[in-house]
Amino acid sequence: ASIFENVPGAPADVIFALTAAYKADTDPKKVNLGVGAYRTEEGKPWVLPVVHKADHIMVDDENLDHEYLPILGLENFRKASAKLILGENSKAIAEGRVGSAQCISGTGAVYAGAHFLSKHYPFKGAACYISKPTWANHRAIFEGVGIPVLEYPYWNPETKGLDLKGMLGAMEAAPSGSIFLLHPCAHNPTGVDPTPDQWKQIADVMEARGHFTFFDTAYQGFASGSLDKDAYSVRYFVERGFEMFIAQSFSKNFGLYSERAGNLTIVAKTPEIKNTIESQIAKAQRAVISNPPAYGSRVVSLVLNDETLYKEWEENLSSMANRIIAMRQALFDELVALGTPGTWNHIVDQIGMFSFTGLSTPQVKVLKEKYHCYLTDNGRISMAGLNTKNVKYFAAAVDDVVR
Ligand code: PLP
Repeated sequence: ASIFENVPGAPADVIFALTAAYKADTDPKKVNLGVGAYRTEEGKPWVLPVVHKADHIMVDDENLDHEYLPILGLENFRKASAKLILGENSKAIAEGRVGSAQCISGTGAVYAGAHFLSKHYPFKGAACYISKPTWANHRAIFEGVGIPVLEYPYWNPETKGLDLKGMLGAMEAAPSGSIFLLHPCAHNPTGVDPTPDQWKQIADVMEARGHFTFFDTAYQGFASGSLDKDAYSVRYFVERGFEMFIAQSFSKNFGLYSERAGNLTIVAKTPEIKNTIESQIAKAQRAVISNPPAYGSRVVSLVLNDETLYKEWEENLSSMANRIIAMRQALFDELVALGTPGTWNHIVDQIGMFSFTGLSTPQVKVLKEKYHCYLTDNGRISMAGLNTKNVKYFAAAVDDVVR
């Protein structure tokens, strides 16, 4: 008999299971609106031209080897990542109180920050509040390190927009010193972001209640097409003097999904505290991954530290953002033209990779079974899966299921 006989099986990951179901579907009309990965107008993955250039520079670089990186990763990548999110002229960086750790992409950065908090957060038993809804991994990561997870209201199904009142109310009611996980831009899964004025109100309550800010940014530059605009909330919080963690992913904005390039930026009150936090994260990282992988961080570092490549990256980014914005408009126009019951302006008002359509789970089931359109049960669609060839078909399918 096996000693593992009584281990229960774990359920498959919902998103990856959806991709598998899409791949297995042989209908030529099938549409994949599940996974959050960019697709071209032809429905294909896209190697960013600037990444292709960086690939070639690296192949020809005789000084590159396969030695271990330091435990906290590639220095030039870490510095450039922090500067990218905090801004060229960040006072916090100039004051020497910004640290960083290269992690296994955005997921690993959230994990590294969460793990640190599980060991060293001074308010014992403090919960991490995540938005309702949020990226499913947030709960899994925080619970995985033993931090209780609670939710704050975010999506208002009536307005198909932000439930600011509910969100602020939860922040007021949470015990002082709670941890709040915030999405700086292109909220996953809703595509709904606070306005600058709403961010101010959020910061006011976070400050008054002494909560800890944990930003998770996976879409900088991908939401609006502007790197600065998408970093607004983070920079505003830093300006106001918050201590915080910022998990950064380069999966989407560089199209480096499998290369696991990510960074945890740490904004501390003093350089000494920054050093302490970094030292603890290095100690923990050594025992989990020993040292991070080099390839993705080299690509990102090359681009972020070279003016010409950086400009080209910005162009690549805006072409992705603009195609997605155009698809929002196209889907909206089709639904309006069909006279589809309901209001659909949220499709164009939302931002980033995802749209929370408001479609119900039974409607999603019909979309999948009858129309071969694959989306998550909560009605989220990845806008990148739409193109000029399939948007009419998808709109007609939506029209049918809501009638
Ligand atoms: N955080 C959010 C909100 C995300 O949507 C994602 C990806 O979907 C990630 C983090 C991390 O992704 P990765 O680990 O591929 O960088």
